[in-house]
Amino acid sequence: MELREIGEFGLIARIQDRLPDLPSSVFKGIGDDAGVASLTPGRDLVSTVDLLLEDVHFDLSVISPYLLGRKSLAVNLSDIAAMGGLPRFTLISMAVPPRIRVEFIDDFFRGFSEMAQAFGVSLIGGDTSSSPDRLFISVTLLGEGRKDALVYRNGARAGDDLYVTGTLGDSLMGLRLVQRTGRPTLAPEEKFLLSRHLNPTPRVKEGQALSEKGLATAMIDISDGLFSDLSHICTESRVGATIWTNRIPQSPALQKLVSASQSSGWQLALKGGEDYELLFAAPPGKESEIIALGRQWDCGVTRIGQVEPQTSGINILDENGPVDPELLKGYDHFARPSPPENS
Ligand code: ADP
Ligand code: MG
Repeated sequence: MELREIGEFGLIARIQDRLPDLPSSVFKGIGDDAGVASLTPGRDLVSTVDLLLEDVHFDLSVISPYLLGRKSLAVNLSDIAAMGGLPRFTLISMAVPPRIRVEFIDDFFRGFSEMAQAFGVSLIGGDTSSSPDRLFISVTLLGEGRKDALVYRNGARAGDDLYVTGTLGDSLMGLRLVQRTGRPTLAPEEKFLLSRHLNPTPRVKEGQALSEKGLATAMIDISDGLFSDLSHICTESRVGATIWTNRIPQSPALQKLVSASQSSGWQLALKGGEDYELLFAAPPGKESEIIALGRQWDCGVTRIGQVEPQTSGINILDENGPVDPELLKGYDHFARPSPPENS
């Protein structure tokens, strides 16, 4: 069905009809001039917004509308996770070109809604417009946390250990696989890497556990690549860091595929974006507690390095010594040369 058959308000009604019932914390959802919802008493608002533009952030020949719906919320969930916050309410703005069909929007919202429900988030509003050409999506996510328990980028201290959840480099390898043409059937490892790129899992409960237990001194989600996101922690915390490449966790699938290619897994991990794992610093005395916590998580946790004084800079060490940092930069939307490999 074409969008013009139901119009803007028909579309909004259709989205609303398919949503689950709102929890009692939402007093007013879709249907008024603004949504109204309650935070838990004593908690502070934690808010984030991300925009996704067709052909810059996603390619509709690669990602299905269902997975795009999931991922557009997942990337925001990951930002709240990186603060140690609890995600609560979301709003979505979209500008939709005429070629997009109603069925596409249905599938998008099925994915979006499933992701929202899985993380206890309610959709409480949005905005809808036509677009001359490309699909544009912007998701706002509102969460909560205690100011003093939330984890910022600026708290790392020299002597802290550095950890990551999950495995790194999978998403970039997955993206490379999809960019390769003429591969109708994928091996199980390739499917895994592709799903890490198209269907990431935000580490919300992991970030919250670290924040609630006061284990992390600084935290960030890895959206631009380990090297790039580590640099943000170092800048904000005014520290340096050492990372040991042989400690960087790699999935069995990535290991298998890189052994057959020219690239090295840790290099993909360092410069690859969109892994949506958490990178955090913690005092050395917390290691056994963190490792024990990581055993309860499907994704696990790995100590990959340590925080140094600022004068040491960032050192990436492989078996031969320091690696050239120029090789490891993540994706920057305004840097040249294009085209992006990850964004
Ligand atoms: P206004 O013109 O006052 O901004 P709109 O007609 O844009 O109101 O929106 C009507 C209601 O529908 C509002 O509650 C708004 O939050 C909601 N809404 C609009 N577009 C979307 C969307 N794509 N997804 C969810 N809610 C939406
Ligand atoms: Mg509006």
